[in-house]
Amino acid sequence: MTRVLVWNEGIHEKRNEEVRAVYPDGIHGAINQLLKVDKTIVVRTATLADVEHGLTEAALAQTDVLIWWGHLAHQQVADEAVARVQARVLQGMGLIVLHSGHLSKIFQALMGTTCNLRWREADDREVIWTVAPDHPIVAGVPQPLVLPRHEMYGEYFDIPAPDELVFVSNFTGGEVFRSGCCFRRGKGRVFYFSPGHETYPIYHRADIGRVLINAVHWAHVAVPHAVITTQSPNDPLNWFVGETT
Ligand code: ZN
Repeated sequence: MTRVLVWNEGIHEKRNEEVRAVYPDGIHGAINQLLKVDKTIVVRTATLADVEHGLTEAALAQTDVLIWWGHLAHQQVADEAVARVQARVLQGMGLIVLHSGHLSKIFQALMGTTCNLRWREADDREVIWTVAPDHPIVAGVPQPLVLPRHEMYGEYFDIPAPDELVFVSNFTGGEVFRSGCCFRRGKGRVFYFSPGHETYPIYHRADIGRVLINAVHWAHVAVPHAVITTQSPNDPLNWFVGETT
């Protein structure tokens, strides 16, 4: 089983009727529905308003993969919570950062850069191209995956070079964007996936669900890790044990 915690700041849905119409159960509720298709995934959800944002030590200890959606309230996420999430990623918890989560404290902390990008809300058509056809995240994903209307995210995207680049998008305006990026941080795996602007029904699409399910399995690092024993420099080397002299 893979234990997923879907974290959503949950503010747009409360303030904006247009967003509420698209996501009556919240963005976290829609992502929960997408992941439910896979019976090996167990989903819990949490929002900014929860005690300690739902990101307590105990909650994180029971999480294999954390999915993060935020936009309006990055600065309201407590530094202590960010530190707990970062520590867990370095210990091996997977992290999937979605859309405007590129400016979240946790993503910036793990990247070490501004994570700024260019954007435009103008009903662009986004075409998401697979550029790593043998990567587990693209299994069963249409090539290309087309979003008829979406917010444009464009380069330059100020991130370190991804360890694996999985998707590149292009837009009606001609812009391109690295829309699916894998990173390794400590023992943890991090995937950034840009689709998911709050006024478009992106998280009701089965093809987007396929990407998220694949990403959950990729980011779930099996534990415990192999134990590496280290010989003391004062111990006699035993390389030749068994050889006769
Ligand atoms: Zn957006």
